[in-house]
Amino acid sequence: MEKLRYERPVIKRLETEMPNKFGSRIERTPKTHIDGVPVQDLIAKYGSPLFVISEKTIRSTYKKVKKAFTMRYPKVQFAWSYKTNYLDAVCNIYHQEGSWAEVVSGFEYDKAIKNGVSGKKIIFNGPDKTTEDLHKAIVNDSLIHIDHLDEFYTIVELSEKLGRRSRVAIRVNMDTGVYPIWDRFGFNYENGQAWDALNKIMASGKMDLVGLHCHIGTYMLSPSAYGVAARKLTDLALGLKRRYNHDVKYIDLGGGFPSRNTLKGAYLPGTDTTPSFEDFAEEISSALLNAEYPTDNLPLLILETGRALIDEAGYLLGTVISNKRSSTGKRTTIVDIGINLLFTSFWYDHKITPAQEFSQYTEETTIYGPLCMNIDVIRENVVLPLLNKGDQFVIHHVGAYNMSQWMQFINLRPKIVLIGMGDKVHVIRENETMEVFNSLEKIPEHLKRFDL
Ligand SMILES: *Cc1c(COP(=O)(O)O)cnc(C)c1O
Repeated sequence: MEKLRYERPVIKRLETEMPNKFGSRIERTPKTHIDGVPVQDLIAKYGSPLFVISEKTIRSTYKKVKKAFTMRYPKVQFAWSYKTNYLDAVCNIYHQEGSWAEVVSGFEYDKAIKNGVSGKKIIFNGPDKTTEDLHKAIVNDSLIHIDHLDEFYTIVELSEKLGRRSRVAIRVNMDTGVYPIWDRFGFNYENGQAWDALNKIMASGKMDLVGLHCHIGTYMLSPSAYGVAARKLTDLALGLKRRYNHDVKYIDLGGGFPSRNTLKGAYLPGTDTTPSFEDFAEEISSALLNAEYPTDNLPLLILETGRALIDEAGYLLGTVISNKRSSTGKRTTIVDIGINLLFTSFWYDHKITPAQEFSQYTEETTIYGPLCMNIDVIRENVVLPLLNKGDQFVIHHVGAYNMSQWMQFINLRPKIVLIGMGDKVHVIRENETMEVFNSLEKIPEHLKRFDL
């Protein structure tokens, strides 16, 4: 028998965030191109860091999700959640695909109007709608989703003043078996608040109760929670039919489907663990179809899914600034992307791939951003091939929330480009400049001069 080759045993320190029993994924190939466009060219032309959005991925994901629902339920309408990504170019792709707009502030409402969305196709959610916002929404015949009774009273007042009826729904919060319950928005189902609000609306005679809404959470991993939510809203709808002979036109189940990002601390990557759109569609459509609606009078199903539609269409390209060893000898890599640009690094272990060929040798690495702040950590622990100063890399699945929640801090914000359906690259948001930044500042006369 041939003698086996001796391999020296090694002792490995256990690090937080590193899966060990289940192994960890190590990238085998570099990400050199996005939709056929070389990453290197994008950075050379538009700078680093750079957000890149793929129009192709947006449209194909949307079509896939839409199909999952329309194959199972005949009346489906999507409404693009503006806060998830409210770049005009992005919103308009969804509007071209047929999505209405879902907004949660006067600012977002105005943005949707400016993009050309008809008032009738704007869903107005959120706890902070000012009297002026509500006035606008009533005049434009938008769908107002009432969050609390003070809002209801304002709508009653405005309707009287304007002599117009408004189209309203209520937001309902509920126990869907996923905890903690998001009970700060809307009216509770279990304790009777929802019925109280519905009765007040029906008694007011001032508004048309057209729908019922809920948004049960975000990055929800449980399709059955949506089944519960759909059944509870349906129960309210059928109760309205019994008590008032009133039909609500739609059931809006909000957003919250997970994207394929990996949550911090998860053993397995999100690509392997998140349920499919079909799973969610199955639960929701069964709940609606199995309720006691007459088949010819099924409610419209509205979905406001944000994160799951856009996350995979967004990339963030960056460059390595330096490598160091920590006090314990651990490899650390400093890059030009900080948490100011990657807000979601607080809850995701974002996948990072080098953008050029690399060697087989890998090492556990901490990725730090460029900010002079201890909390500026992009990945606490990731197995990466060695990256050198000037090397480029791609952070995946950053389309949701980063481009709306990013902040100007220490550095100015970079450009955002869209790769169109061919491979044409369009700048859809310019980088910030000192002029733009300073245009909002004012210096009092006595602070204009100093001697040092
Ligand atoms: C944020 C939000 C959404 C979108 O949520 P995702 O988790 O991104 O799908 C939809 N509806 C309402 C009311 C929201 O606040």
